[in-house]
Amino acid sequence: MSEPLRLQGISASAGYAEGPLFSLDRATAHYTVKATAADERAALETAIGVATQRLGGLIDTANSEAAGILEFQIAMLEDDALSGPAFAAIASGQAADAAWRQALDTEIAGYETSDQDYFRARAADLRDIRDQVLRALTEDDERAAPAGAIFYGEDIAPTRFLETDWSTGGGIALKAGSAASHVAMLARSRGVPMVVGLGAAGPSASPANPVGIALLDAEHGGIVLSPSPAEIEAFRRSSSSFAARRDKAKTYLAKPAVTKAGTRVQVQVNIADPSDVDGIDVATCDGVGLMRTEFLFGRTLPDEETQYRAYRKVLEWAGEKPVTIRTVDAGGDKPVPGFTVAEANPFLGLRGIRLSLARPEILRVQIRALLRAGIHGNLKVMFPMIAVADEFARAAALFTEEQAGLAARGIAQKMPPLGIMVEVPSVAIAPEAFADVAFFSIGSNDLTQYVMAAARDNVSVAHLNSVRHPAVLRLIASVVAFGREQEIPVSLCGDAGGDPASIPGLLEAGLRDLSVAPAQLAMAKAAIADVPV
Ligand code: PEP
Ligand code: MG
Repeated sequence: MSEPLRLQGISASAGYAEGPLFSLDRATAHYTVKATAADERAALETAIGVATQRLGGLIDTANSEAAGILEFQIAMLEDDALSGPAFAAIASGQAADAAWRQALDTEIAGYETSDQDYFRARAADLRDIRDQVLRALTEDDERAAPAGAIFYGEDIAPTRFLETDWSTGGGIALKAGSAASHVAMLARSRGVPMVVGLGAAGPSASPANPVGIALLDAEHGGIVLSPSPAEIEAFRRSSSSFAARRDKAKTYLAKPAVTKAGTRVQVQVNIADPSDVDGIDVATCDGVGLMRTEFLFGRTLPDEETQYRAYRKVLEWAGEKPVTIRTVDAGGDKPVPGFTVAEANPFLGLRGIRLSLARPEILRVQIRALLRAGIHGNLKVMFPMIAVADEFARAAALFTEEQAGLAARGIAQKMPPLGIMVEVPSVAIAPEAFADVAFFSIGSNDLTQYVMAAARDNVSVAHLNSVRHPAVLRLIASVVAFGREQEIPVSLCGDAGGDPASIPGLLEAGLRDLSVAPAQLAMAKAAIADVPV
């Protein structure tokens, strides 16, 4: 029996799985070359058709989140810009499989080398499309994984995830991958344990095709290959403690969150797509603490009407509860084609409010949609990545101007309270420049990465990227104290708000308003109940 091997990565979806390893990395089957270029072309057309049909079949049984991902893949398959180079190569004598692989690999390489996590994460979708068409060309069926398997390899295709029956357990352990990938989003919403970045220590540290039983600890981001009996026993104890915590947490979901001392804590939710609210019972949360709008800015910039409908839907769902919508935070790890610019260091570049103020014609469209939606509920609006007071003043002035414009045209509108994200250290250190904002919302994801100088999406520095470092907690506490003094409400909407291990520190820092990922609502409320403040 081989020696136990422990690999460390980053948790993309918390949970535990013990099961047989199933390798995701394998060569595709042999392709039979056709007689003529016309036959090769026909073979590729048919294969693309088969892959599109397969995706369409999956959509029929998918929820709205999964359907969105599959529709994205179909749109890519139908995009001539993707298949054009392959057909051109076939016309000049190449076989369909080689032509398709080469065309897609070129495209994938562009995504993979992007310094932006969002684009790197989309490379998995392109690999999925490439392999589905190759499989259709070679008439190769995907091998079925044993029940409860731990899928192990470089990356996993979204369709592989959607075709797997997770009801019997199992998990995902990736050498590469990204916590921002489509599969990671699906895994979090379905509760499938997933770890990414296991190969960060180099190829020699993570074996190519290990076999046998493995222990996946996706609460702490690790996996043990060839575990010893003692390791299996310890793992099972941690796994059942996690399951017990999760079950207990469910009993907190319907109740308002209170600490051990009886202090009420607001727990709101973070959403991106308006359809996210479809799966949330509004009674289980205190509103929407953050609606990220950059995801509406997909392949094209959304018009005023599209945005108005999206915001209105969420406001009507929330009723009287507050809904805090953030103006577009493009750039950094969230590029938007046609809007963001390529930069050497996007996290420190033209992102968030900086980009919006540089392109006011785009921000103005969003502002009009927000002002019009404001009459349908309890809307608050905040600006991302504010570093200096002048940015807030300029953004607020655009609201005033657009409101006047709408009023002059007799269009119903309402000015929402305007606040800012506190995620750039300059604001957290010197908040006195912002005494006229309506509220502060601490973005702990960015605040932590800037305070610790450790990127939020880099496995190699993940140990440094901790909101629990005293430097970060002290800053948060000082912002809360400033808010109390000035009677400016302070909440927190970074991922730390939903992390049971970080919640005690955040409440001790004085926070009483957290906004968390919907999947974390129950766990967050349960963790709050244990804090003595
Ligand atoms: C944050 O930075 O904590 C935050 C909530 O914003 P985002 O994760 O969208 O950058
Ligand atoms: Mg941020």
